[in-house]
Amino acid sequence: MGAARRNSRRRSRRPLQVGASPSVAQASHEPSAGGPTPASAYSAAGPAVSLGSAIQRADAGSGDRMIRVPPDGVVHPIAAQLNRPGTHFRVPNFADLQAAYTDKKLAIPESVFQARVGQLLGRMRRDKIGIVDLKGNPITRLKTLDDVPTILAKIFPAPGVIDQVEFENAVDVTNRRRIYATVLDAQTTVKPADQPKLKTTMKDAADLITTVQGDAAGLTAVFGTRAADAKKNYGAARTALLDIAKDLDKHVTTDYNLDDPEVNLGGWANFAGKHMHLLAEIVLVTDPNESKTTLIHEAAHLSDPSVDDHGYYGTPNFEALPESIKVSNAGHYEELPKRVLKTSSYVGETFTPGKLKGGGAVTWEDTIKRSASEYLRQAWDAAVDTHTFIRGVRKSALGGSKSPFTSNVALIKEISKLMDLTIHEQDPANAQVTTLDVTLTESIAHGVGIIGGLADGETVTKPAGPFKTQADEDAAARNAVIDAATARYGRLLGAPARDRKLLDWLVAHYRNLP
Ligand SMILES: [Zn+2]
Repeated sequence: MGAARRNSRRRSRRPLQVGASPSVAQASHEPSAGGPTPASAYSAAGPAVSLGSAIQRADAGSGDRMIRVPPDGVVHPIAAQLNRPGTHFRVPNFADLQAAYTDKKLAIPESVFQARVGQLLGRMRRDKIGIVDLKGNPITRLKTLDDVPTILAKIFPAPGVIDQVEFENAVDVTNRRRIYATVLDAQTTVKPADQPKLKTTMKDAADLITTVQGDAAGLTAVFGTRAADAKKNYGAARTALLDIAKDLDKHVTTDYNLDDPEVNLGGWANFAGKHMHLLAEIVLVTDPNESKTTLIHEAAHLSDPSVDDHGYYGTPNFEALPESIKVSNAGHYEELPKRVLKTSSYVGETFTPGKLKGGGAVTWEDTIKRSASEYLRQAWDAAVDTHTFIRGVRKSALGGSKSPFTSNVALIKEISKLMDLTIHEQDPANAQVTTLDVTLTESIAHGVGIIGGLADGETVTKPAGPFKTQADEDAAARNAVIDAATARYGRLLGAPARDRKLLDWLVAHYRNLP
C-alpha cells in the first residue's frame, strides 16, 4: 500500500475499549495468527499473581490454570487503567536488529544505535503488567530485572558486537507481543477462515442498528433535537455495514502483526473509500459485544462524511456535549447499542448539553479536562498515522520500491529527529527505514495513548496568572494537565521540552500526514 495513496484519505479512529464489558470472552485476545500466546510471559508469575479485580480474567481455554490478562491496549481514557497489562512495546526481531546494526552502508553510529535500543527497552520496562513475581518484583515487558544500561552492556559487549543470547535473555523472543515480526502482516485482508464469523457479526450489528433506530425515546435521550438526523445516519450506517459484509476483501483490512493493540488502535474507517480497518480481535470476534460496538462506531463514520471523532466514548464531558457535536461524533452512536448490550456507562441517562451524568453542571475544570483530552486524542491519532506511514515506507522498500522514501525524505528526517529514530543519523546516501525505526514509532504512538489515559486522571488547577485573556488562562491550565500526564508517563522522549515539542507537532499534523 503506497504511502501516496493514503494522502487524500481521511481517517477516523476508535481506540481499544476493553473493560467496558465484563464478558469472560475478553480473556482470549490472542489472535489465532498471532504466533505463540503470551502464556509463557505471564506464567512466570506462578501462583503469586496479584491482579486488580478490574483486569483479572480467567482463561478458560488455556488449560494450565494460569491467570491470563487481556493483552490489548490501554483502556482509553480511564486513568485507573494506567498499569493494566494491555500495554506493551516491542523490539525488532534479532535478525532485523543485527542487520541494521552491522549494515556498513547505513553506518548508524554505535552510540545512537545503543541509545535507540535502550529507549525501547526502557519503554518495555516502564510497561508494568500489573502483576508481581514471588519476590514481589513487578513483571514488566522484559524478562530480566537488570537495569537498561546493564542489559545494553550485555547485548553490545564490544563495538560492532551484538549478542543474540543476551538479547534473548532480556526479551522473550517467542512472544509476538515482545517482538516485531514483520511489517508485511500489519495491514492485510481478512483470512478466508475468519470471514464467516465476521460477516455474521456484521449482520448482527446491522440488526442492532435496526433495533436502536426504532427506539424513539432513546434517540431523543442521546441526541436531543437531532434525533431524526441521528436516526437517518444510523440507517446509512446499517446500509454501509451490510454492503461491506458482501465483500470483505474489498472493504476491510486487519492487522495480524498486532501493531494495532500496540498503538491502542481499535479500527478506523474511511468514508470516501468505503473502507474499514479492524483490530484482529474485532475481526476474530473474541468479544461479540465489543466487535458489534466497534463495527457500529466505524459504520457511523461511513454513514455520512460529517460523522467524525470529537471525543471517544466515556471521555470527559462525553454526555454533556452540544447536540451538534453528538450527532457528528461516532462515539455517540455507540450509546444506544451499548444500552441494548448492557455495556453502557450511562444507563438511563438523558444526555443534556452542559450537564454531566447524575445532573451536575459542567465546570471550568471539566472543560479544561475535555480540552486536554481532545489535544491528546489528536496527538495519538497523528502518532498512529506517523507509525502507519513509517511502516508503509519500510514495507514498500521491502517490496522493492524506494519512492515513498525518496518522495518524503524531508518529512521522514523531520520525524526521525523528533521521535529519536535512526534515519537522520544514517549515511544520507543509503538512508532507509529500519525495523528499529518502525518499532520506535510504534512505541511513541503507544506512549501517547498512555499519556491520553493518564491526562483524564490529572487534577485541573488554576494556573498562576496574570493572564491577558481567559483563553490564555485556559490554555495554561490545559497545558499543565498535558505536561503532568506526560511527566507521569516519563518515557516519551525523557525530556519535557522535547516531549512537548513532539506532542505539539503531532497535533499540528493531525489528519495531515501522508
Ligand atoms: Zn472514530
